[in-house]
Amino acid sequence: MNNKKYIICGKFFDGVNEELKENIKIIVEDERIIAVGSDLECPMNAEVIDLSHLTVTPGLIDAHVHFDFIGPTAFSTYAINETDEMKTLNILYCAQKSLEGGFTTVRLVGTGLNSYGAIDMKNAIDKKRFMASRLIVSPHFLGTTGSHGDFSAFASSNPVLSDKIEDSYLTMGNGVDFFKKAVRKEVKYGADFIKIMATGGFASPNDAPDDMQLDNDELRAIIETAKQLHVPVTAHAYTSELIDNLINMGITGVEHGSLIKESTAKLMEEKGVYLVATFMPYEEVVNLDEEKLALKHKPFREKLEKFGEQLRETRKLLVDCIINSNMTIGYGTDIVAVYDNFDCWREFKAWRDNGIPALKTLKAATSVNAKIVERPEIGSLEVGKIADIVGWSRDILNDSEAISACDFVMKEGVVCKR
Ligand SMILES: [Zn+2]
Repeated sequence: MNNKKYIICGKFFDGVNEELKENIKIIVEDERIIAVGSDLECPMNAEVIDLSHLTVTPGLIDAHVHFDFIGPTAFSTYAINETDEMKTLNILYCAQKSLEGGFTTVRLVGTGLNSYGAIDMKNAIDKKRFMASRLIVSPHFLGTTGSHGDFSAFASSNPVLSDKIEDSYLTMGNGVDFFKKAVRKEVKYGADFIKIMATGGFASPNDAPDDMQLDNDELRAIIETAKQLHVPVTAHAYTSELIDNLINMGITGVEHGSLIKESTAKLMEEKGVYLVATFMPYEEVVNLDEEKLALKHKPFREKLEKFGEQLRETRKLLVDCIINSNMTIGYGTDIVAVYDNFDCWREFKAWRDNGIPALKTLKAATSVNAKIVERPEIGSLEVGKIADIVGWSRDILNDSEAISACDFVMKEGVVCKR
């Protein structure tokens, strides 16, 4: 049976070369791209998809999302108040929304579930039972008592309750043996990667972004066990002190890095350790937006203000690294407040507002992120790749909100939105 599609592109970005081409056609057969070029004939009986009014790009990838809750104010209550079943359904809801937004793949960097619902949802989507963004999953955060990933801290005004919740968590604990087992369990049930909460955070109640929440023995146990099982590890981490340490232990990647110094950026570049920079959660303090800052809960706000100066310094450094260095810097939104967490386009605006060129931003969200999530078959529009193809009617190059509305989505050769 002939299942070919002939796509006529308006403008065309392949995900790799930072240029917009014109007059390009793509031929898709089943779920793969079989031809890309300017002088391609339409094959016999192929379905013609005319996107000549759109800018066509690879399906975008968001490398840092939290999809197990819904809504801009749910983060500080959902982990305590919602069941795992509801959290799993929340993932589906958000992944349907993100697909409509042109993000054909998202990476869940840990969840507040106490089960493996995120893996079930990933598998259900892969089996095409639901039309939603492809999920790359770390089912849980690995962290210590009271750490950034220990959501029982949101019930810390009631220690009896809080301790009960903490004891039920599969990957919150203390000690080398605990974490070795936690890594093995995550891998046993299908984790694509391991996510560690190596340091405190901004959005959590009783910790700070420069806290060390796992000691060296625990960190080493996690990284070495994961390495033995050939599973990558990424760490939520902010400061140079900690990140230098993680790099020397052999970590694969780092999330945020929002307080690092130049020497750490250089070390990451030299060792090939990636950074998912996540500008979104710090925008209000980096670019001074009092109104939006007021929407965040009190500890989040206070910590952002306390670290404001260093956040602004490091932001300048990271923008320079994105534009001028060979560091691998990925695109990740990390929205947990103020906006809907499936608004994956917002990081595009943040990068653009910080002076990063549009196609460099989209390259981070396509071919660079494909490398970070270790899926070489996605992230670019080339022969042999999976046909994740999206289209935009607004001016990608000059409009910082151009990707807030997606006009066409194809995932694995299937048109999901037209
Ligand atoms: Zn996060």
